[in-house]
Amino acid sequence: MKKNIIYADNAATTKLDDEVFCAMKPYLLEEYGNASQPYSFARPAKKALKTARKDIADCIGSKPEEIYFTSGGTESDNWAIKGSVTLNSEKRGIITCEIEHHAILNSCTSIERFNYPLLYLSVDNYGEVSVQHLEKIISKDTKLVSVMMANNEIGTIQPIKELGTLVHRFGAKFHTDAVQALGHVRVNVEELGVDMLSGSAHKFNGPKGIGFLYIKNGIILDAYANGGSQENGMRAGTENIASIVGMAAALKKNCLNLDKNKQHLEMLTYLLLEKLDQSGVIYIRNGIHQLPGLLSLSFPGFNGEALLHRLDLMGVCVSTGSACNSKSTQISHVLKAIKLDHCYAEGTIRISLGYENTISDVTKIANSIIKVTQADCSGY
Ligand code: PLP
Repeated sequence: MKKNIIYADNAATTKLDDEVFCAMKPYLLEEYGNASQPYSFARPAKKALKTARKDIADCIGSKPEEIYFTSGGTESDNWAIKGSVTLNSEKRGIITCEIEHHAILNSCTSIERFNYPLLYLSVDNYGEVSVQHLEKIISKDTKLVSVMMANNEIGTIQPIKELGTLVHRFGAKFHTDAVQALGHVRVNVEELGVDMLSGSAHKFNGPKGIGFLYIKNGIILDAYANGGSQENGMRAGTENIASIVGMAAALKKNCLNLDKNKQHLEMLTYLLLEKLDQSGVIYIRNGIHQLPGLLSLSFPGFNGEALLHRLDLMGVCVSTGSACNSKSTQISHVLKAIKLDHCYAEGTIRISLGYENTISDVTKIANSIIKVTQADCSGY
């Protein structure tokens, strides 16, 4: 951790785990062979690729050949949506949810213009999708339904298994963006009944720029990139062995420590909220069944961006929940969808703790919030 900085924006990205870096290093410096080459020097790379694929498959309960490496969550989401156009070709309808990440929302609108009618599932005030609402809008013409496992802004975990059962009753296919959930909650594709699942390594202490798409055997997607025969000809391009090895090591480690990390993060969350409650500062916590350590907090009458910058000056990194992205000061589509009162929505910040955060960190975060909300940075 950088000196004097408390990093509490783990939903944006995480620190590369030291052990993961050690696992990657040989493939950057020594074993740099191209895994597609037949000579002996390339063998360690080929072997590492095979092992990593199996390790990731074991972590999510899939078969190794159902794991396709990509450059991250955005690519996996784009592939799942756009690659599905020829899937179930007699059907055309796509359903997604209004609080999805823009990688899903924008992929859906990009195919909608080619006459793939798009419907949106709404969410309740906690950001939860209703299975009953899906039952109302799904039809025999529905080709694909995509609902995220956990929301990146408010942390709400969706009833994926129940949604998937309904989707399959209508003969449609089901994709879930598990980018925020993977490595933080238990994920088993067989038990959940999903046909496709997106993951991204930098959200679970792996390297940036690497992810995967799980594609269940029997699901025929369009290839994402044409070229060589890598990834079974579905996503051509020389494999990024070091990052793939790092992703597998990170996911394995997180899955092994899932319960321990969850307990730690819940303890930190409890302490942070207790401190805020004791101070009398007025706020609400958004979401329900949240991801461990993810707190979307709204302070009425305050401005999220102003809070973020004040906290930054005090050495605390959080993000705003009210901005669509760093260049926009609009209320986000997620906070709009949960119909959060404007005065609360504007004053929203997201604190996302990681396993490296300590009691001393959350004490400082809480004290800093108390300080900035008691100082006059309200109302702009
Ligand atoms: N999906 C969700 C839910 C996310 O939170 C993110 C990143 O914030 C993405 C997709 C995109 O992932 P990546 O940064 O790996 O492209």
